[in-house]
Parts: sequence; structure tokens; C-alpha cells
Amino acid sequence: MDRLVLVLNANYEPINVCNTRRAIGMILAERASLVKNGRGVIHTISRVYPRPSVIRLDKMVSRPRPRILLNRREIFRRDNYTCQYCGKHSMTLTIDHVIPRHKGGEHIWTNVVAACAGCNHRKGGKTAEEVGMRLLRVPKEPPASAMYLFGHHMDENQEWQEFLSGW
Ligand SMILES: [Zn+2]
Repeated sequence: MDRLVLVLNANYEPINVCNTRRAIGMILAERASLVKNGRGVIHTISRVYPRPSVIRLDKMVSRPRPRILLNRREIFRRDNYTCQYCGKHSMTLTIDHVIPRHKGGEHIWTNVVAACAGCNHRKGGKTAEEVGMRLLRVPKEPPASAMYLFGHHMDENQEWQEFLSGW
């Protein structure tokens, strides 16, 4: 019941994920419809329900364009858990402010990168140029596409692919 279910808006735009229990609750309340099963059925004492993988809201909900939250997890995810100076892949990275905060560098997507402890230490409170280091790529705000927002759940939910692409 903890398996994630992809929730589509009435126009099929992916807008959320929820657990199986909540998805079935929404279907039973006639707020959403089953789009994709693919996971067999759930037996209760009196009934058998299809186990949803993708559901669609019956009524369109309007919402502001989503943005990716600026936090450690999302910074590391954007940078593929890779130090943006030496290219080392690691699950224990630090956040580096490209222009150091004490030099007026802001905590914004274009000024934060994942850095390994060694590179962060070497760079210290200086800019990369001052210590002869170079960024692998220019940091940007990640696109809030459906694939970026929900695609990281696809290892366990391959069938979502067709619903995520194009948004
Ligand atoms: Zn490094």
C-alpha cells in the first residue's frame, strides 16, 4: 500500500505522487479515475480492487507552475551527486557557494554547486578563479519538468514513462 501512484491532472499533466491507499481512496470517492493498473489487485473482505499505478483527477485543478525547492538534496540531485570541480561521484558532498557568501554571493540556484570536501576545503572562502579551479558546468535552476519532478521514482515505476514525457 506504500507503492507510489502517479497523479495526473484532468488534462493528463502529472502533478503529484501519492501512496496506493490514498489513490484508492480518491477513486472510491469518485475524485479520480484509474488510468493504469499493472500491479494486480487488492483483496478486501468483500471486494477486489485494481491496484493503481497511475490515476487521473476527474476535475481539473489549477496550480502555479512548480519550481524545484532549493535545498541540499535537490542541489545534489541536479549535479548528479558529482563534485562540480573535480568530477568525483560521491554520496557525501558539501554545498559550495560559487561566489562566497562573505563576498556577496547569494544562496540561489545559479550560485550553489555540489562539491566534495576536498575541493570545498581547497577553494576555502575564495572564488574558483582565485585558486585556479574551474566549474564543470554553469549552475542553473533545474527545469520543473514532469520527468525531473517524478522521474526519479521510475526505477520502481517504469510504466510511468509515457505519462511523464512531454511535460
Ligand atoms: Zn571535488
